[in-house]
Amino acid sequence: MDLQTLKICTKCKVPKPYYDFNKDKYAREGYYPSCRSCNAHRRLNIHKKAAYDKEYRKTLGWKKAANQYKVSVEFFAEFI
Ligand SMILES: [Zn+2]
Repeated sequence: MDLQTLKICTKCKVPKPYYDFNKDKYAREGYYPSCRSCNAHRRLNIHKKAAYDKEYRKTLGWKKAANQYKVSVEFFAEFI
């Protein structure tokens, strides 16, 4: 493997040296198609989305309960 060779990241389209890519034994080239920083971003986004989903479900739960008991969502929010 020539370390001087650049590989273009499929996410940010920036040519980067191979050491900027994580190794992936399942990939044809032996490296991830996207660079380390893009992978890091993606991981961050997944965490953000998970947090958002959790928050969303919680709010949905309140709304359901509020409907059921004929009280406002704010009423529940005070107790949780
Ligand atoms: Zn990238």
